[in-house]
Amino acid sequence: MIAGVLLAPGKVEITEFPEPPMGEDCVKVAVAWCGLCGTDFHKFAGKAGSRPVTYPVPLGHEISGVVAEVGAKVTGFKVGDRVTVDPNWSCGHCYYCQNGKRHLCENSRGVVKGMATYICPPVENVYHIPDSLSLREAALTEPLGCCLHGMDLLDVRLGETVAIVGMGAIGSLMLQLCRHSAAGKIVIVEPEEGKRELALRMGATLFVNPTAEDPKEAIARAGIRVDKVMECGGIPATIDTALDIAGRGATVVLFGVAAPEARVSFKPYEAFTKELVIKTSYINPGTTGRAIALLASGAIDTSLAISRQMELEELPEEMATRRYSRLGKVLVRVDKSTRD
Ligand SMILES: [Zn+2]
Ligand SMILES: [Zn+2]
Repeated sequence: MIAGVLLAPGKVEITEFPEPPMGEDCVKVAVAWCGLCGTDFHKFAGKAGSRPVTYPVPLGHEISGVVAEVGAKVTGFKVGDRVTVDPNWSCGHCYYCQNGKRHLCENSRGVVKGMATYICPPVENVYHIPDSLSLREAALTEPLGCCLHGMDLLDVRLGETVAIVGMGAIGSLMLQLCRHSAAGKIVIVEPEEGKRELALRMGATLFVNPTAEDPKEAIARAGIRVDKVMECGGIPATIDTALDIAGRGATVVLFGVAAPEARVSFKPYEAFTKELVIKTSYINPGTTGRAIALLASGAIDTSLAISRQMELEELPEEMATRRYSRLGKVLVRVDKSTRD
């Protein structure tokens, strides 16, 4: 099969790659679309994604596709079914799985290497999508599922003020989810000035460009107190900003994936006097079904998160330049015959 393979740090090629092994409890899926994730760029840079990396490996884990074959023991799926796949497999019998925290599974593994003609995930990770949902939009299931977990942890109450630090693809989804959560005010902190108009059109109350003004001062000047902060940048500077702009009693969710060796310094005294609740959000436990339902409902304008769709051949250049990924989600059409 053909795949967009990470051969070594900094080296991606579109090349022949062996098909993944097909088990009797697996579903072989012909990948239609695969989204590029920030973690793919971490891997490209020679760092870990949600887990450590072994080379060579096809990039990508955010997919939609069509069932091409089902294993002998599989029920509930047939050839031709339109599906999406939760890339995170858990064992079901370790301490964490048995205590309702499957995403923290000690034996977890990634079962989707999605920039490839085929993937063969275990059936328990495969989900039907409704006819009303395009394959293209269904490729956003995993990132949206991760956002839903983050939103669950942020726990926005009606009318509260939320600040979102970083408005890439994830921040754009978070902004819409905050609107649906009936946040009273939404502050966006984002250095890409070109996003200002879009943010305000999407319902942001205040857009702060941190390269032009100090976010904490700008927010105070606007008379806004921040109850909840969703940090979507994953770098020390954005984490620093998130803790800085959090108001008294605020909850801060660190959602952006940081580089493994990254460290942040923060002021514990200030966190203490503000009595901050600082949480982290890891992957997408039990949120895949809700993400599919939300996408199918039409409540999320995915065009606001997608910056570009491209063919698999364009992947190496995008990995090297981040030209479109800097602005939002890049969707790669893996199967050229895909029409929706
Ligand atoms: Zn992802
Ligand atoms: Zn487990």
